[in-house]
Amino acid sequence: MDIRYVSTTCPYCGTGCGFNLVVRDGKVFDVAHWQRAPVNGGKLCPKGRYAHEFINSPDRLTKPLIKKEGRFVEATWDEAYDLIAERFGSYKPDEMACLSSARASNEENYLMQKFARAVLKTPNIDHCARLCHASTVAGLAAVFGSGAMTNSIQDISESKCVFVLGSNTFEQHPLIARSIIRARQGGAKVIVADPRYTPTAQQADLYMPFISGTDVAILNGLMQEIIRNGREDKEFIAQRTKDYEKLKEVVMKETYSLENVSKISGIPVESLRTAAEWIAGAEVATLIYSMGITQHTTGVDNVKSTANLMMLTGNLGKPGGGVNPLRGQNNVQGACDMGCLPNVFSGYQKVTDEEVRKKMMEAWGVDDIAEARVGYTVTEMMNVLTDNPGEIRAMYIMGENPMLSDPDIQHVEEGLRNLEFLVVQDIFLTETAGFADVVLPAACYAEKDGTQTNTERRVQRWKKAQDPPGEAKPDWQIICELGARMGYAEQFAYENPEEVFNEVAAVTPSYHGISYSRLDPDGLHWPCPTAEHPGTPILHREKFAMPDGLGVFSPIEWKPPAEVPDAEYPFVLTTGRVIWQWHTGTMTRRSWSLEKEAPIGWIEINTEDAKELGIKDQEVVRASTRRGSIDIPARVTPEIVKGVMFIPFHYREHPANRLTHNALDPIAKIPEFKACAVKVEKIAEE
Ligand code: SF4
Repeated sequence: MDIRYVSTTCPYCGTGCGFNLVVRDGKVFDVAHWQRAPVNGGKLCPKGRYAHEFINSPDRLTKPLIKKEGRFVEATWDEAYDLIAERFGSYKPDEMACLSSARASNEENYLMQKFARAVLKTPNIDHCARLCHASTVAGLAAVFGSGAMTNSIQDISESKCVFVLGSNTFEQHPLIARSIIRARQGGAKVIVADPRYTPTAQQADLYMPFISGTDVAILNGLMQEIIRNGREDKEFIAQRTKDYEKLKEVVMKETYSLENVSKISGIPVESLRTAAEWIAGAEVATLIYSMGITQHTTGVDNVKSTANLMMLTGNLGKPGGGVNPLRGQNNVQGACDMGCLPNVFSGYQKVTDEEVRKKMMEAWGVDDIAEARVGYTVTEMMNVLTDNPGEIRAMYIMGENPMLSDPDIQHVEEGLRNLEFLVVQDIFLTETAGFADVVLPAACYAEKDGTQTNTERRVQRWKKAQDPPGEAKPDWQIICELGARMGYAEQFAYENPEEVFNEVAAVTPSYHGISYSRLDPDGLHWPCPTAEHPGTPILHREKFAMPDGLGVFSPIEWKPPAEVPDAEYPFVLTTGRVIWQWHTGTMTRRSWSLEKEAPIGWIEINTEDAKELGIKDQEVVRASTRRGSIDIPARVTPEIVKGVMFIPFHYREHPANRLTHNALDPIAKIPEFKACAVKVEKIAEE
C-alpha cells in the first residue's frame, strides 16, 4: 500500500488554512493536520477537516455532456470543443459573457479573463465577488487606494479592541476567530454588532444587536460620540488624511446623536457610548467586517464608513489595527486580483487605460482585445438577459451556480432560459448546469497544481494529490484547449500552471516578485514588487496607495434598505451561512460528516414574533416576499432581534434566494441579500 501526504490549501473559506491530503494508492481518502501550515498552524474547522469527502463522490462529472432534444448525452472532448468553438465563433463579442470562479486557482482565473478579452473579445467578464465583496473592492480602493484587507490574520491578535460588524467570524472564518481569542487573552475588548446572537456574539465583551441595514447610522453615531469627546486622532487626521471637515459636517448632525442612532438601529445608547469609548480609548483597534456590511444597496457607503471610523481613530498602517474585510470563498481575493472583474485586468489595472491595454496585448501576442470599456457585472448580465433578451446570447460559466447563489432566482432562471447557448464547466451537475447546452467536467482542487490568494492577500500553493475522475480535466487545461480550438494555440500554449503564474507575475505589478519557488511553505502577501521583496502583511504603513498618499474621508448619510417592512411584509429578512455548509452546497452536501449536521434549511424567528404569529418551533411555515414563497421549518429563538428573520442560503429544498431582492448598490452592483421585507404565515391545514 502506497500512502502519501500532500500539503495543500483548503477549498472553502478565504482564511486559507493549509492541510495534508492523505493519498492511498493514488486516491485521496482523508485530511491530516499540517502543523507547519502558516495561517492555521495545523488547526482546522469542520469543513477543512472533512474537505476530502466530496472529492471521490460518485456524482462527479467524468465526461463532457451535450444536450440533445432536452437531454444530456455523453460526448467526446473533441465534439464538445468543436460545438463550443463553432457557437462562440458565431456571436459578436458583446453578445457573449463569461463568469469565472472564486473556487478556481489564480492561474485559471487569469486564463478565463484572458480568454474572454483576447479570444471572445468581450468585456463581459465577472465572478461571484460581485455577490460578496464588490463593495469592499470599490469602497476601500476609493478611500485607501487598495481594496483589500489592510492587515494580516495573525496581526489581529495584536489588537487591543476588536470591533466585529456584520461578520459571524467564529462560524464562517473559525481559524481567523482564533486571532480574536488571542487578542482577548492579551487584554483586548471585543465588540460584536449583529442582528443575531451568533457564536461570535457569544464571545463578545459587548454585544450590540441591531436592525439589519442601519450600519452607516451606527458608524456615524460612534464617530459623533468620539468627536464630541475630543477622542479623534488629531495627528493622524492632519498628517495622513484629507476631507475631515466634510466628514465632520455630516456625522455631527443631530440625526446621528446617540439617541437618534439608538432609535434607528435598536442599539441602547449606553452600548453605543461604551463602544465609542473602547474604540477611541484603545492603544490600537481593528475593525473586522464581512457580508453584513457589503451585501446592501448601500454596500460601498457601509465600507467607506468603516474606513472613516478607523481613520478617525488613527488605526491604519500599524500592527493590531486596520480595516479587515474577511473574504468569503477560498480564492475570491485571487479571482479579483487576476482581473475577473469587468473594469480591470490583473492587479486592478484599468481596462480603459491605453498603456495597460497595449502591455496586455503584447504579453498575450494578440492585435486586438475587448473594447476599452467596462463590461457587464454578474447582476447586470442577469438583468439584461431578462429585460433585453437577445442582447447577451451566449455564456460560459466556470465553477459558479447562480441558480442558487444569486438573488431572486426566478429572475435568474428566466434569464438563463433566454440564452441561446450556455456552457457550464464544473465538478458536479449543479442547478445551473441543468440549463446548459454543453457541460464540461472539471478537476477539483485536489487534482491540480496552482495558487490561491487568501483574504489577507497571502498567495499560497495548491498541490495535486490525485488524478481527476474519468475524463475530467483542470480548468486551466480546458480553457487552453478551447482557446487553441478557437485559433489561439500559441497564446494558450502553457505546459503547466507555473508557466501561467509566471505570466501573471510579469504583467501584474503587485505580483511581480512572486514565483512558485518562493511560496513554500509560508506563501507571500502582495504587494510583492520584486524577487527580493518579503511581501507586505500590513498595508499603508507610511502612506495610503493614493496619488497624494492621503486617505480620503467620505461624508456618508444613512439610507434605509431598498425595501423596508410595511403592513403586508412586516419583517426584515436577512440571509447567511452555517458552519457545516458552504454556499450552494455542491461540495459540503456531498460530504456526509458535514451534511448530517445540518441537512435542511430553516427560518429563524424571534420568540416574541413567533408567539404573535402563533408559530411553534419546528413548524413548517410559509415565508413570502414580493419575489416568491417557500415553505420552511421555523426555528423559534430569542437569539435573533425582534422584527428580523434569517434563512441560510445553502439549501435547494428551501432556497432563500427565491425570496431575496435584486436591488443593487449603484456603484458596486452588489445585491441587497441582507435586508428585504418578508412575511411569515402558518400553512393552512389541508
Ligand atoms: Fe477551511 Fe476556512 Fe475552515 Fe480554514 S477556516 S479549515 S480555510 S473552511
